[in-house]
Amino acid sequence: MKRNIIRIDEEKCNGCGLCVSACAEGAIEVVDNKARLISEKYCDGLGACLGECPQGAIIIEEREAEEFDDEAVDVHLKKQQTNHKPYPCSCPSAEPSHWKVEDVGTEPAPVRLPIHHQCFLIGL
Ligand code: SF4
Repeated sequence: MKRNIIRIDEEKCNGCGLCVSACAEGAIEVVDNKARLISEKYCDGLGACLGECPQGAIIIEEREAEEFDDEAVDVHLKKQQTNHKPYPCSCPSAEPSHWKVEDVGTEPAPVRLPIHHQCFLIGL
């Protein structure tokens, strides 16, 4: 079927990961320092990730793609939660569950992202 879906330009992508946390469906992962759409069926095509990309590397385009699958997204997100491993620095504040919504809303993006917290600062 033809529908709206994201396309990520690898040449522009710097692997910052901001789009990963912007995607509520968990459709994007950074692999080998490049953002990848891990499954077409996880992308709803609404483009919440677009505004987060500092490189302008993500566009929405209409093309042939697998249909968005809400149920597959639920299964995928539950699996992600189950498989979650602590970050290498083991800092409690690096865990997403450490943050309340009101804590993260006013901070700049690098501070909001737990993975960018201490792991980033100490080079893990
Ligand atoms: S936000 Fe943009 S530059 Fe950063 S990982 Fe995603 S696509 Fe790449």
